[in-house]
Formats: sequence, C-alpha cells, structure tokens
Amino acid sequence: MTMKNNSPSYRLTSNAYEQLVTHCRSAYPNEACGLLIISSSDTHTVIDTIHPIANVHPNPYNCFSFDPSEWISALYQIEQHQQLLIGYYHSHPRSLPIPSTADSIGMLPQTGAITLIVSFFTSKPDIRAYRKCSEGWQQIELLMDNANSQ
Ligand SMILES: [Zn+2]
Repeated sequence: MTMKNNSPSYRLTSNAYEQLVTHCRSAYPNEACGLLIISSSDTHTVIDTIHPIANVHPNPYNCFSFDPSEWISALYQIEQHQQLLIGYYHSHPRSLPIPSTADSIGMLPQTGAITLIVSFFTSKPDIRAYRKCSEGWQQIELLMDNANSQ
C-alpha cells in the first residue's frame, strides 16, 4: 500500500476553521460533530464549509452520534446546493486528536471520507485529519490558513 504518497493534501479555509473551532468550543465539555463540505466546484481539496450536526449520543462526554433528522436534512441541502461532502469532524474535548476505539468501531467513517478531529487537550485547538484504510487510520495533510491565530 502506498496510499500515503498518493493522498492529496487538503486545505481548511479561515472561515471554515473559525466555524469549526467555534462549534466545537460551544459544545464543550461534550463532543461536537458535523460535516466537512466543499462548496466550490473548482477544487476537490479546499474545505470551505462546515455543517454542524447535533450530537445525540447518550454519552456525549466521550462519544458522538449524528442526530438522524439533521443528518438527512444536511444531505438534502448538500445535494440541493451541488456541494461535495468530503468528510466528518468531531471534537476531543479532553484528549489528543487521535482516533479513539469508539471512533474505530463506531459509525465512522465511510470509505474514503476524511475524519477530522479537533482536540482541546491543549489550550490551542489541535486539528488533525485522517482517513481509514485497510491498515487502520492514516493521517493526511491538512493545511490551515490561520491555525496560529487562536
Ligand atoms: Zn473521537
């Protein structure tokens, strides 16, 4: 497997970064979750839109699960606006941005989807992106315009 070398790097726009961090902070101390969307048809690697989804997991402190009706309505909107769903995000309020056992056995991810984890383990948000392959989680490069501004 040489996926690592072939995997493109993705970029998070500053708007998307702000929305992402704001949403994840607002859910603290619980986990937040949502969708990563590409709105521009010019590119398939620039994540410019964030769509929060309510976390309805019975244990939102350590796990997340999408609200089914919000999830369906988000998919409908994505279709309607001809956007591209590229992956999912969730937060780790108290742990490092490394996929947990729950992440590995849970609903995530679909094949090829990006899994982005926002960690508040340190005061500055630490954001990492992964993809699941047959060998497990593989970190992918994520460029952020303003990752140092917060
Ligand atoms: Zn997790």
